[in-house]
Amino acid sequence: MPRPIEALVHAEALAHNLGRARAQAPNARVWAVVKANAYGHGIENAYPGLRAADGFALLDLAEAQRLRALDWRGPILLLEGVFEPRDLELCSRLKLWHAVHCEQQIDWLAMHKTHEPHRVFLKLNSGMNRLGFMPAAFRAAYARLDALPQVDEIGLMTHFSDADALRFGADGIAQQLAAYEAATEGLAGERTLANSAATLRHPARTANDWVRAGIMCYGGVPDFPEHDAAHWDLRPAMTLRSRLIGVQQLQPGDSVGYGSAFTAEAAMRIGVVACGYADGYPRHAPTGTPILVDGQRTRTLGRVSMDMLAVDLSALPASGFGSEVTLWGEGPRGSRLPIDEVAHAAGTIGYELMCAVAPRVPVHSV
Ligand SMILES: *Cc1c(COP(=O)(O)O)cnc(C)c1O
Repeated sequence: MPRPIEALVHAEALAHNLGRARAQAPNARVWAVVKANAYGHGIENAYPGLRAADGFALLDLAEAQRLRALDWRGPILLLEGVFEPRDLELCSRLKLWHAVHCEQQIDWLAMHKTHEPHRVFLKLNSGMNRLGFMPAAFRAAYARLDALPQVDEIGLMTHFSDADALRFGADGIAQQLAAYEAATEGLAGERTLANSAATLRHPARTANDWVRAGIMCYGGVPDFPEHDAAHWDLRPAMTLRSRLIGVQQLQPGDSVGYGSAFTAEAAMRIGVVACGYADGYPRHAPTGTPILVDGQRTRTLGRVSMDMLAVDLSALPASGFGSEVTLWGEGPRGSRLPIDEVAHAAGTIGYELMCAVAPRVPVHSV
């Protein structure tokens, strides 16, 4: 029998969350961002729930091929563009739209032989300083692209660094938005600015031709803990669940796990869960990280091991060997543990936990 751990991917939740992106940006089209293997859900598992998207955005060409293999014929956007000249051949063959963020990518396009011109999104570095042309270089790059027979339509793209928060006392987007508007004023082309955080918090100013909805599709909240999933009406697209495979009775002074990081003050019962950091559960989750046993909230105890972790059963006398454990997502009888709460307790973000679910965890679409 396999270990009892499994991840479930909920197609209905994905569809609901995609609908939330649409409701926030009713005049825009929606890219469902499925990079990093659909944020750890698996492209093939996520596709049934997200197929109502107007397009899919990702950055790995192999993932684009997998989407085409699922028979997706609509737009696919490579968010980082191509990594070497021959990638352009695959773009031509699979009709991939691609970002253009640097001069090298324009050089490669200029040398590329294609029957059908490419659809590209020219990326502006409006202040995040990751990818994109500086504002002063943007119009020249646009003109270069515009002159190429290899290029069909040119879209305009930028990415916010702080759409999830306040920055310098302002709303987190004002500075970049101003830089974007100045750099792109008067240029023709479809525009795409908003990630999930901007789509949720600033739709009026950022949700133009296309929004790029990533984390929100999966039910993760970009601005947790300021807001939670209930506030934005997002549902968990992933459940990570397992079972108790052991129970121990501790006496006062007994400790749990490696490093004896938790010591019992009073007699207590604990459960041992078949889930550890080799499954993708964060090793940094401290004692007190929320977890559900039989749908009831309790806490982790001590250090997370490779294959196991311990939970407090003091208040759960009816739970024991074989009890269902929800690490995050949907539990039994309508219970729910948002991934954001687990991530927050472990000092990280829901994005990282989703992406980190290990290959050894079987994933089932439900
Ligand atoms: C990942 C990514 C997104 C989606 O971000 P979320 O915060 O998950 O919505 C959008 N645009 C770009 C360029 C990205 O890399």
